[in-house]
Amino acid sequence: MTHDDPRVRKTTVTLADGRELMYFGAVPERPADYPDRRPLAEVQVRSEARWDRLAGEWVVIASHRQDRTFQPADDQCPLCPSSAGSRTEIPAPEYEVAVFENRFPTLKTAETGHAGDGDGAERKPPPGPGHLLAGRPAGGRCEVVCFSPRHTASFADLSPGQAATVMAAWADRSAELARLPGVEQVYCFENRGAEIGVTLSHPHGQIYAYPYVTPRTDRMLSACASYRRETGSNLFDDVLAAEEADPSRIVLRGSHWTAFVPYAARWPYEVHLYPRRRVPSLVALGDAAGAEFCGLYLDLLRRFDRLFDRPAPYISAWHQAPAHRGGDEFALHLELFTVMRAPGKLKYLAGSESGMGAFANDITPETAAARLRQLG
Ligand SMILES: [Zn+2]
Repeated sequence: MTHDDPRVRKTTVTLADGRELMYFGAVPERPADYPDRRPLAEVQVRSEARWDRLAGEWVVIASHRQDRTFQPADDQCPLCPSSAGSRTEIPAPEYEVAVFENRFPTLKTAETGHAGDGDGAERKPPPGPGHLLAGRPAGGRCEVVCFSPRHTASFADLSPGQAATVMAAWADRSAELARLPGVEQVYCFENRGAEIGVTLSHPHGQIYAYPYVTPRTDRMLSACASYRRETGSNLFDDVLAAEEADPSRIVLRGSHWTAFVPYAARWPYEVHLYPRRRVPSLVALGDAAGAEFCGLYLDLLRRFDRLFDRPAPYISAWHQAPAHRGGDEFALHLELFTVMRAPGKLKYLAGSESGMGAFANDITPETAAARLRQLG
């Protein structure tokens, strides 16, 4: 299931403004037959990473001078295959899975052609009063992953074989983007549903290649380091063993994966999916585990779609080790959660969560797990 996977063909072409587009899977046979003929000007991106000294976190400020030459009409989805009457981001008339650089990215490789800072260091500002308000260019890359050519499909509608092609694309991009100069972490994710701000309904996800290690991953690695010092063990291994020992929060179990609602779930319905054998990244996942993931994940998504009176809006987040540290301790896993707690009722990130970062959950994780088990 790696980027070298000979079963999944990958073809890279260049869009009219110089961005890369990659086709994964069976079609098109000859992508070069379908050049991008749109009159696109290159977008100038100005992104800055500013260091929040009190929180100890980077914040990206993205103010783009956007060239709006290409503004699709409402009835022209930019993620559908191109047709005679509609030129989209994907020039071919057909595809299985397509990945391309976001035209208006939050993070972008500098104009010199190299991301960020070049040396792989995270480059936090030095201590001292002279550096309290410090930032740097936010290099990196943002990509869009089209899961299917069918506009009205969702990930849950894919066959296990199509899901495997998406996985191959995720693994390929995780490996390649982690090798870009200045990239510190690669994050594959999907936002699904208008409730969480998705403006394009076409089934798609995104990939962010950050020029720093994200705050959540950084905290997880710090917790791992403390736990290692105190116990000599790996924290992810021990947490997974503890969760597996308590069936009340288990949702699904395969030969290679366990899906459970975490003991301290933040969201009304939240499932974490871990491979039993710890690996740091999608690239390191074996074939058998990769194949089983597709079936289990599709099962989980279909259960989420049956939770309410209509398909649940959700966020699906792959957690992987950073590009340059933590690979010996971090455990690849997927976190899937919905922002909905009942039909028509959203959980808003309000005063406690947004103001203090302090979550409170109205549904017990045990109740949520029991409900998700029943929906199978
Ligand atoms: Zn579409």
